[in-house]
Parts: sequence; C-alpha cells; structure tokens
Amino acid sequence: MLGPGPVQAAQRVRTSARIVIAGAGAAGLAAAARLAAQLDGARITLVDARKEHYYQPGFTLVAAGIKPQSYVVSTTAEYVPGSVELIEERVAEFDPEGKRVVTDSGRALPYDYLVVATGLMLDYDAIEGMEVGMIGRNGMGSIYHSPAGAAATWSALSTFADQGGVGVFCRPATEMKCAGAPLKYTFIADDHLRRRGNRGKAELIYNANNKALFSVPIVHEKVRMLFRDRGIRTNYDHVLRSIDLGRRVATFATPEGTVEQVYDFINVIPPMRAPDAVLNSALRWQEGAWGNEGWMDVERGTLRHKRFPEIFGVGDIAGVPKGKTAASVKWQVPVAVDHLVADIAGRSSDALYDGYTSCPLITRLGRAMLVEFDYENNLTPSFPGVVAPLEELWVSWVMKTMALKPTYISMLRGRA
Ligand SMILES: Cc1cc2nc3c(=O)[nH]c(=O)nc-3n(C[C@H](O)[C@H](O)[C@H](O)COP(=O)(O)OP(=O)(O)OC[C@H]3O[C@@H](n4cnc5c(N)ncnc54)[C@H](O)[C@@H]3O)c2cc1C
Repeated sequence: MLGPGPVQAAQRVRTSARIVIAGAGAAGLAAAARLAAQLDGARITLVDARKEHYYQPGFTLVAAGIKPQSYVVSTTAEYVPGSVELIEERVAEFDPEGKRVVTDSGRALPYDYLVVATGLMLDYDAIEGMEVGMIGRNGMGSIYHSPAGAAATWSALSTFADQGGVGVFCRPATEMKCAGAPLKYTFIADDHLRRRGNRGKAELIYNANNKALFSVPIVHEKVRMLFRDRGIRTNYDHVLRSIDLGRRVATFATPEGTVEQVYDFINVIPPMRAPDAVLNSALRWQEGAWGNEGWMDVERGTLRHKRFPEIFGVGDIAGVPKGKTAASVKWQVPVAVDHLVADIAGRSSDALYDGYTSCPLITRLGRAMLVEFDYENNLTPSFPGVVAPLEELWVSWVMKTMALKPTYISMLRGRA
C-alpha cells in the first residue's frame, strides 16, 4: 500500500520539453507533482475544467453517514505545483498524429509528451428512466455521482434503515472504478438496519453483473460466505437496464430475459466508460469491449501508449486488466513518470506496474478487510503477518476511515 517515496532534488533532469497532462484528478495531480520535482525547466501544463477536487474513496463514508460532505471536497488549485500551469478547460480533442490537444475553447496545446489522466465517465443516461436530479429521493441513491449525491444517498439509506423494506444493490457490466464499493455499501446497509433493530423488516438483494461478486476468486468466495451469513440474497448475471423512479421498480437484464425488482431503496451504479474526448480518439483500444468503452491502449507494465510512445495513460482511463482505484494511481504514476523522465534524459527505465490494486472492503461499521492484489490475482498484503487480507479487522477499518485520506493527499503532492 505504501508507494514509492519522494523525489530528491539532486536527481532533477534539465529540459525544455513541453508536457501536457489532461485531467487534474488523482492521477493528473500526482503526475504533475512528480514531473515538476524531477524535471528542471520543463513546461508542464495541466488541463481540467473542474475547480473542485473530490476525494472519491470518501464518498462511501459520506453515504454511510460517518463523514460530512465537506470531508471529500477541496480545490484542484491547492495541489498544483507552482511551476505548473493550470488551464481550466476540458480537452475536447486529442490529436496524437499532430502531437497536440485542443481545448473546449479551441485552444491548441502542442506537446512533446502527453499524460492522459481524464478518469472515466459515469454513463447514467445508459439506464433508461434514470434521473440524477432524483438521487436521494423516493428511495433512490447513487454513491458514485458526486459529494452531494453521496450525502443524499445517506439520507435515503437512513430512511430505509428506519422503515425496512426491500433494498436492491448492483454493479454495472462495464469496467468500473473501485469494484469493491458496491459490495461495501451493501454491507453498510445491512449494518445500519441491524443497529436500528430493523434487519428483520428488510430484504437485501445483491445483483452481480456476471458470475462473480469480485474478480479475485478468493475474495469472491469470502464475500459470498459473508453475504450468506448476513442473509443477503445474491443474484448473478443481473444487469440494471432501466428504472421507474416513481413506481420504484428496477429492471435487470438476465440470460433468461428481463426481471423486475420492486425496491424501497436502491443504490444505482451506472455503466462507466472513457470520456468522449478519449472515446472518440485514436488513443483507445481498437477492438473488443475495451475499445467500445474507450479505455486507452497502453502497455500494462509501463502505461505507455502502444502506438504513440510519447503518450502515457494513468488512472481510471488506462486500459489495463486491474486498477481503477486511487491505490493503483499511487503505483502507476511513479512508473509512467519514470519512463517519461528516462526518455527525456536519454536513458531507459525498468520500472514496472504489476497491477497493484487495493480495496479496503468495509464489512460493517468498525470492520474492514484490506484486500490487495495484482494482475495475476495474487494477494499482495502490505503488512504481511500484521493485517490479514481476508479477515474483518478493526485496524483495516481505521486505515480506510482515518489513514487513507492523508496518504492520498500526500500522493497528490508527489510525496507518497
Ligand atoms: C464511490 C467511490 C468509492 C471509491 N473507493 C475507493 C477506495 O476505497 N480506494 C481507492 O483506492 N479508490 C477508490 N475509488 C476510486 C478512485 O477515486 C479513482 O480510481 C481515482 O480517483 C482515479 O483517479 P483519476 O485521476 O484516474 O480520475 P479522477 O480522480 O476521477 O480525475 C479525473 C479528472 O479528469 C478530468 N477530466 C475528465 N475529462 C476531461 C477532459 N476531457 N479534459 C480534461 N480533464 C478531464 C475530471 O474533471 C477529473 O478532475 C472510489 C471511487 C468512487 C467513486
């Protein structure tokens, strides 16, 4: 879990290279900080229209009622290194042949190196009947949408925990960020019902999109057993297609046809895909599901684009088999930056990203399993013998609720 350390000033490489970073979220800011620290004289430009910075791993805690909305909101500007220019616009077009990006206002930014860190897009429109303005109302929540959405989801869950009824949980069939979050929130709902003495008045249903609850088999098995013990009914091969927010009916596609579930509370997690600018560019995978969803076609070990070697893709946008967590960002960015700086310095780098991903899987308030794994589904515990990965531990809960945010902020500043 602990990432590579800070960069020493003595290692700085002198250059006048132009580096554009598209996206100033977790990965873009971390890349800017590391590049600014390692390069002397580079012209580094960050491009992102969003002025607020969201600490997204905290959304689950806001939606669980244990952190305020303000816990997850800060500003982008406070993390931008002094030597880096921030352009508050979106990239509208990637032109890898011309080695430039074009912003919403039509401004062209030529580059020698490009780091793409646009994160992903939540495709709520792909769910028929879904209206994000209704999050928090009439039993519909969505912890992914935004800080306000997470807070509104908490008020809907709290009402449900008082009254009981049918709670429906699910995840999309696309690649997604933090695949543990849908599971965590199901456990959190179960725990709130129990604490209020209303678990007997509620039925909880978890709809997996395929035949597994989690992509790592041993974690799937552990969650399956915990769900069974807690009386959470599990369906497989159920994908949310449409929702009737007035009647409170969710419709799922299954191999046997569509199935309707009437709910009193639902946590809608939409399909996820690359933002349009990447999806519509030559940067994406050229075929298969990853091509359709628009993920960047990068080497999984170096995060370097397979056809445009001066381009790197880090964070959620990277088309690699694991990742899409802030914990992965912490390991991906130093690798990509090492290769980029090596190119500038005229040397080679052997830095490799092994797929490290971590998921502090909350199983009740006060307990979590710190699940860490790599591309090969090996469990890769950071504290072997101290923090057992598949045990519900208080120490893992403390990490999730108290230690991870300071570590994340250090990562944005290139210090972790
Ligand atoms: C509910 C929830 C729970 C999570 N839980 C955890 C957890 O427990 N542990 C964990 O490690 N991770 C967790 N994550 C995942 C983690 O937050 C993300 O993986 C991480 O933020 C990815 O960083 P990123 O920089 O790729 O994307 P982001 O941080 O989302 O940043 C992307 C940035 O790109 C910008 N952008 C988009 N399009 C463009 C464009 N065209 N031009 C310019 N800029 C653009 C956006 O405005 C944004 O600022 C969770 C996420 C959610 C939503």
